[in-house]
Amino acid sequence: MAQVQVLSPDGSVQKVDRDSQEALQALRQTTALLAKAALKQEFPGIRLGEDNATDDGFFIDSDKDDAQVSADQLEDLEAAIKKFAKDDAKIELATVPLDEALAQASDDQFSNELIKAAAKDGQVAIYKVGDVVAVANAAVLTYADAIKNFKLLSVAGAYWQGMSSNPMLQRIYGTVFFKKDALEEDLKRRQEAKERDHRVIGNDLDLFFVDPKVGAGLPYWMPKGATIRRTIERYIIDKEVANGYKHVYTPVLMNLDVYKTSGHWQHYREDMFPPMDMGDGEQLELRPMNCPSHIQIFNHHIRSYRELPLRIAELGMMHRYEKSGSLSGLQRVREMTLNDGHTFVAPNQILDEFKSILKLMIEVYHDFDINDYTFRLSYRDPKNTEKYFDDDEMWNNAQTMLKQAMDDMGLEYYEAEGEAAFYGPKLDVQTKTALGNDETLSTIQLDFMLPKQFDLKYVGEDGQEHRPIMIHRGLVSTMERFTAYLTEMYKGAFPTWLSPEQVKLIPVKDDVHGEYADKLRNEFAAAGIRASVDHRNEKMGYKIREAQTKKVPYTLVVGENEVNENKVTVRKYGETEQITKTKAEFLDQILADLATYSRE
Ligand code: ATP
Ligand code: ZN
Repeated sequence: MAQVQVLSPDGSVQKVDRDSQEALQALRQTTALLAKAALKQEFPGIRLGEDNATDDGFFIDSDKDDAQVSADQLEDLEAAIKKFAKDDAKIELATVPLDEALAQASDDQFSNELIKAAAKDGQVAIYKVGDVVAVANAAVLTYADAIKNFKLLSVAGAYWQGMSSNPMLQRIYGTVFFKKDALEEDLKRRQEAKERDHRVIGNDLDLFFVDPKVGAGLPYWMPKGATIRRTIERYIIDKEVANGYKHVYTPVLMNLDVYKTSGHWQHYREDMFPPMDMGDGEQLELRPMNCPSHIQIFNHHIRSYRELPLRIAELGMMHRYEKSGSLSGLQRVREMTLNDGHTFVAPNQILDEFKSILKLMIEVYHDFDINDYTFRLSYRDPKNTEKYFDDDEMWNNAQTMLKQAMDDMGLEYYEAEGEAAFYGPKLDVQTKTALGNDETLSTIQLDFMLPKQFDLKYVGEDGQEHRPIMIHRGLVSTMERFTAYLTEMYKGAFPTWLSPEQVKLIPVKDDVHGEYADKLRNEFAAAGIRASVDHRNEKMGYKIREAQTKKVPYTLVVGENEVNENKVTVRKYGETEQITKTKAEFLDQILADLATYSRE
């Protein structure tokens, strides 16, 4: 098997298999270094930030005084990297005194900071390629001749050292492989992922935006995205109300003391925003979860066993202190609205309630055409129990109970230690994002702890007080993550009932047929259909194509014939056929289509 030589920052040289992960990481790191050298050669005054191999490629950060490096300069950079590789650039490693390293990095403030941070006992290990000096922080290949099959993919802004209070640098992403076909496969996968990426589709279809200058992780829902969200929200509220849930509204701010009682402050603080001091002794906290709020609703009245299971639900807005590097479009945000629900049950109702939630969840998945998911039972980490609520018996019982319910229902699942909530074990429904990352979409969690912390009670059939158990559940996750997920799953071609724009009416001649189109639009609107007329002074072919790229389910062309015979010519998204039908026939068709989510 082919081998390559890998040089580590400690100076040791090893031969490793070319097919190993170690060799691939070294290849990525080496390409990043060469890219740095190429940047310096192309733009001599450039300042260089971090260079890193990642799980799926590499990146290099840089900063220029004038315009930043742009995407159309990447090809020239690639050529420069190739030239370094062809000339068999050697990567030299040296451990030198800090002063010397700083002198070599001359007046590049970012390189200087990196070098200073890496120095130990006044010494620092550096790599040198071309005119570039970089901190040696990972293994590289000793020779650059293996760097042939690579691509610089994109440029994006990245804050210096990941902190939004720091200057924004330019980050160039790239990918590299030893073999050409591996690179081709990787590029194909990336292209497919890009076509599905909800951030790309969200931009093309004008669904939402996030602007780091206004607030990273704080999305703005444009009218079309808002329409999708409103449709999901109405669907879920109706579904839950029909299944015995009582919907409420509760505040996003709450007295910090409540989070101390709940244990969030002790166990979940790093995900919470700092409290706000109201100046009169009161500290208010932005909620990271809705559970303590729903507990207030439970506690507001004396509860009887006859009310159980008591199902409280809310589309609850919450805020989490997510790191800026982990944020991603609508998929991971800092302000989110969870389709949350808390059921308060008597001990002998846990199993049935768990099963009925799961049944409801599967129904909901069916309505949204979601088939590709796995069940994960998430337990506490037995080696790290101090992270969790301290009650071994509770944990063992609850974990066994979850497993039993899944076995009873004959559902397949896998078990994961260390994924539980701090207050109890959970069932997570796992799906994959377009980029191939695993994510939790839905969750059902058993909780014996919060009822105890808040001293919750109900009056039993025996007239005595008893302690309920709480089941936390999110059927379709947060509106943000769910919309991201659906956008990727449907590749932006939402089924008609979810589509922000269901019908686009295109008059053949606007001045002659526009009025008829408007009349149809109004009739459709009265039937609950989202339709609009394209009155623009553009060619008809152009308007039809645009309706297709915007993935509008029905494009209706209306001209002379249609006006005279009260008809429409219908083109369905993704089909080339155009069918002329009466208005009544079309209404039947679209209303049947709109009812699909309640089909059996
Ligand atoms: P994760 O592991 O994804 O951070 P979690 O286990 O902290 O999630 P829960 O506290 O169970 O999540 O939150 C309920 C649901 O809210 C999650 O299952 C997930 O679908 C969604 N969610 C959690 N964090 C975010 C976020 N930052 N942005 C969007 N949705 C989120
Ligand atoms: Zn909860």
